[in-house]
Amino acid sequence: MTIYHHIALNVPLADGLLTYAHHETLAAGTRVVVPFRGRPQAGIVWAGGITPDIEPTKIQNIQTAFTDEAPLPQDWRALLAFAARYYHYPLGQAVSAALPQGLRETKPVEMPQPPQYYSLSETGRLQAAPPARFHKKAAVWAALQHSDGLSLPALKQINRQADKLLEEWAAQGWIALKNAAAPVLRPSEYCLNAEQQAASQAVQAAFGQFQPFLLYGVTGSGKTEVYFDAMAEVLAAGRQVLFLLPEINLTPQLLKRVEARFADVPTAVLHSQTAAGRRTQDYLRAMLGQAKLVIGTRLSVFTPMPDLGLIVVDEEHDSSFKQDNELRYQARDLAVWRAKQAGCPIVLGSATPSLESWHKAQSGAYRMLELRQRAHSAAQLPQVDILNVGRLKLDNGFSPQALNLIKQNYAEGGMTLVYLNRRGFSPALFCGDCGHTFGCPNCSAKMVLHRRARQLRCHHCDHRETVPYKCPDCGNQDLTAVGQGTQRVEETLRLLLPEAGIARIDRDSTAHKNDWADLYRRIHAGEIDVLVGTQMIAKGHDFARLNLVVVLNADGSLYSADFRAPERLFAELMQVSGRAGRADKAGRVLIQTQLPDHPVFAAVKAQDYRQFADRELEERKMFGMPPAGFQTAIRADAPNVAQAVDFLNGIKAAVEPQLPEDVTHFGATPMLMVRLAERERAQMFLESPSRKSLHRALGLWLPYLQGNRDAKIRWSVDVDPQEM
Ligand code: ADP
Ligand code: ZN
Repeated sequence: MTIYHHIALNVPLADGLLTYAHHETLAAGTRVVVPFRGRPQAGIVWAGGITPDIEPTKIQNIQTAFTDEAPLPQDWRALLAFAARYYHYPLGQAVSAALPQGLRETKPVEMPQPPQYYSLSETGRLQAAPPARFHKKAAVWAALQHSDGLSLPALKQINRQADKLLEEWAAQGWIALKNAAAPVLRPSEYCLNAEQQAASQAVQAAFGQFQPFLLYGVTGSGKTEVYFDAMAEVLAAGRQVLFLLPEINLTPQLLKRVEARFADVPTAVLHSQTAAGRRTQDYLRAMLGQAKLVIGTRLSVFTPMPDLGLIVVDEEHDSSFKQDNELRYQARDLAVWRAKQAGCPIVLGSATPSLESWHKAQSGAYRMLELRQRAHSAAQLPQVDILNVGRLKLDNGFSPQALNLIKQNYAEGGMTLVYLNRRGFSPALFCGDCGHTFGCPNCSAKMVLHRRARQLRCHHCDHRETVPYKCPDCGNQDLTAVGQGTQRVEETLRLLLPEAGIARIDRDSTAHKNDWADLYRRIHAGEIDVLVGTQMIAKGHDFARLNLVVVLNADGSLYSADFRAPERLFAELMQVSGRAGRADKAGRVLIQTQLPDHPVFAAVKAQDYRQFADRELEERKMFGMPPAGFQTAIRADAPNVAQAVDFLNGIKAAVEPQLPEDVTHFGATPMLMVRLAERERAQMFLESPSRKSLHRALGLWLPYLQGNRDAKIRWSVDVDPQEM
């Protein structure tokens, strides 16, 4: 018999579903190997028993079907189908992106065995007390005596030699192995305060049903303890928890904290640095329900979990939840979709929620849970000072005040963090006298200075105007273009404090787990007096001596054309301020800026997210920008930008007559960073108050994009883009 199957393959052909034949029907989700262009390729059975829409004689046979492996489950396939549809990405390639490497290969994989638990056997139980020579090992024995099963990792927490002991005792017949045990959860070290308890209770009351929560509370307000408390209940019931967090927060310290609390819970840690073999096994353990707790970065949102009972997204505003190439998904949004699918609650936590989530909480779509205080009663909010450096002579970016503070703090034995705003900015124009910046009249975006054309241009809607010769607010004729190097910051510090320990944290210096661990060790050993950071240092680090934060070029991003720049800056400044004074001393924060009157700084000074968010949201509504409206970016790149612009504008002209009325279609503009890897890039925005209309408009675009036969041009679609 010949049965036809749709196989999801990682190939750039339409949706990536190709037809192959087999002598029997294969279950959907089964991994197979098929020939594609003369080479074996792994794929996933998407549907069996289909009627082929191509000539049967042209259909090739499936070479191998891995029927001994558990198939990828139905709800996982539904998630991928949704993601592919929503992000307008070929299904076959989306499926491949969601699989760990081992499952993308043409070899069979080994199915993981369920974990084993140790407990006292019948003979073991008869012994009133362990023999005297076990004296030192008594703790392990006692732990076994008081439980109905503990895993090896849990026992190793009690005594590092536990594996040797267990081997010995098993040989004596005193202990036995079994396959399941109710996990023993350690109680929290703390008594949750009233707000924490109320938050955890609200989440627990929603178990078994879909309910998104926004857990909003400043850094150190005890959000993590709330997650843990709710997670403990789900895990105690034997169900699974998915815990997503930004790459930078997935630190050994966080994992230690999880382990201390959930030592006995089989856990899978999934992120890009986990070795491939380990990742595949962890993925499968989660899929088989063996791993109960899955902790990971954005890609772990695709982990199949049959018993999903709760999802947590920590630092939900973090931009690393958005994948910026290939399948351009937003893991936070997919996590909400999954919670709905699984019928379970999801907690999105942040001190500075994304405006998207804040908007949903305001409108009642999400339930807001708020923690108003820091959990440590002793911890105080830092004192934040905004320093206007518009008229100061700076020394490689440092004001004299900043240098004095750093010097003094060093003399007093304190640690300083010098923070460099991580985002570069586009060339912009501003008035040094009154601080006026040049916004687009149509958009909530700043205009970019094009020196050669002597124009200001909006990179969002392509509005253009000639560079003004004076400030429209105050008449000042001396308009300044912004831009200032920060390379020599470290050298300046070395000159200032030749004896001090100075270290730099950035993406490169912490690219490897070990680098981080080493730096962390040096900080705790007191070897570091000044830390220079280009991005925020991970949360959850209590650097006891860190009591001064200096922010150098705070406003760089405020000139950025990206309308989300103030939102990001606010989140960064709040987070970086939270670094100071987590210990028992109030910290100090000095923010240097040339725009001291920008509302973002007043809100940071007051440590008031609400003030910031409400104002920002008003502005977004005024311009119909997200979250008040929806966007899609269509991008193209080519050897030179004119080709990319023409390509997009050509399709625009063809599509425009059929476009739904509530979709706005802007002209193609060069991207802020036009040149990347020898290619030049342009983009075009589609906007609408209705998601549905936007997807309809994309439906008009796609045939033209897919029909592109010009090899010079590459294109991509970014639904809900995060960056301009
Ligand atoms: P967040 O996740 O909001 O930054 P954490 O949960 O990490 O906050 O808590 C901040 C600090 O306060 C941690 O050191 C934590 O151990 C401590 N903490 C949390 N809850 C309590 C509590 N109820 N009582 C005492 N200390 C607490
Ligand atoms: Zn504009």
